[in-house]
Amino acid sequence: MRARADACPGAWRRHDAADGALARFRPVGGAIAPAELRLLADASDTAADAAPLELTSRGSWQVRGLTVKGADDLAAALAAVGGPAPLLDDQGRDVPCSVVASPRSRAVDAPARAIADALRGRTDVPGRLLVAVDDGTGDVLGLDADVAVVLGTPARLHLAGAPTDIPAAGPTAGPTADPAGLALAAIEAFLAVRGDAWRVAEVGAAAVLGALRTREQKRVLEHAEVLTCAERTCVEVLPRLGEVTPAAARVLADLGDEGAALRVTPWRTVVLRDPPDDARERLAAHVETGPSRWASLSACVGAPRCAKSHTDVRGDLARAVATGRAGGLLHAHWVGCARACGTPAGPVAVVEGTPGGTYRTIVRTGRVSG
Ligand code: SF4
Repeated sequence: MRARADACPGAWRRHDAADGALARFRPVGGAIAPAELRLLADASDTAADAAPLELTSRGSWQVRGLTVKGADDLAAALAAVGGPAPLLDDQGRDVPCSVVASPRSRAVDAPARAIADALRGRTDVPGRLLVAVDDGTGDVLGLDADVAVVLGTPARLHLAGAPTDIPAAGPTAGPTADPAGLALAAIEAFLAVRGDAWRVAEVGAAAVLGALRTREQKRVLEHAEVLTCAERTCVEVLPRLGEVTPAAARVLADLGDEGAALRVTPWRTVVLRDPPDDARERLAAHVETGPSRWASLSACVGAPRCAKSHTDVRGDLARAVATGRAGGLLHAHWVGCARACGTPAGPVAVVEGTPGGTYRTIVRTGRVSG
């Protein structure tokens, strides 16, 4: 059993990094309002070493290089923004864990909001917990979320990346059209049995399912409308390595003001639903707007922001891309030392900086980093 709580940063609980305070903001299903994005951009303007905003593999925003007062001021300003799915509500409460959702679908917005609002401010929910609402396309199912609901006929519950038999059978099944309720029931069941565990896989999906049935919270879901955005009404752009400069954030915010709904994805892109016709052109100077070598690349922060790094990982990677030596079919994750922070799940080539200033490549098939 663990002797410590998880150390995931949030809006108020920051990570004390070498370059200052690091705050993390978890959007509800990736949603961010233009006013929130401008506040993040303003904070990034003042960050140590001009650190850009960062997108995480769970669709969160990170602001690094802050002073404690700067981080407090940012959280307070965000709490004053309001809106239907704010990063922080008017009481300053953020969402304690990641709630991701299919970025192109409007159908996921309401259940994602209901889940997030029910969890806001709770201290018994581990920051490592991942909740997903999938529109039936399976795009966020591949994240192996702890708790996932898939809209459909009927909607279904997945635990730790595997489908369950809910809502198909069972004496307590009954009709409902409440996918958020199903997810929340599963989360409560996990909290009831988790002990010191952070993820469903640590206690086993069977234990959570047992608790779910015991609590008679098993549900059958009626058809939930799947309203996937037609391709022509969505634009998806890729900030290199998830780095969003203040200038890029402000262009995105402008497009949001002009009617585009902004959604951050767990694959570190930004989807704009119903954007202005010239959105790609206006973003082209700031992010990748078409097929790109950067799509299969990720990297840890490296030197100079991480004192453990043997090299300027991101600078080295940029040079490798520019000369055609990086960016292929297999995902490559560049890191500055053997800790290999942020190594994604699944097949990946880890390109690791060594004390001699060279790199070695290790092909891995699963998650290895702690
Ligand atoms: S992998 Fe090493 S260099 Fe990169 S962030 Fe982690 S500790 Fe720092």
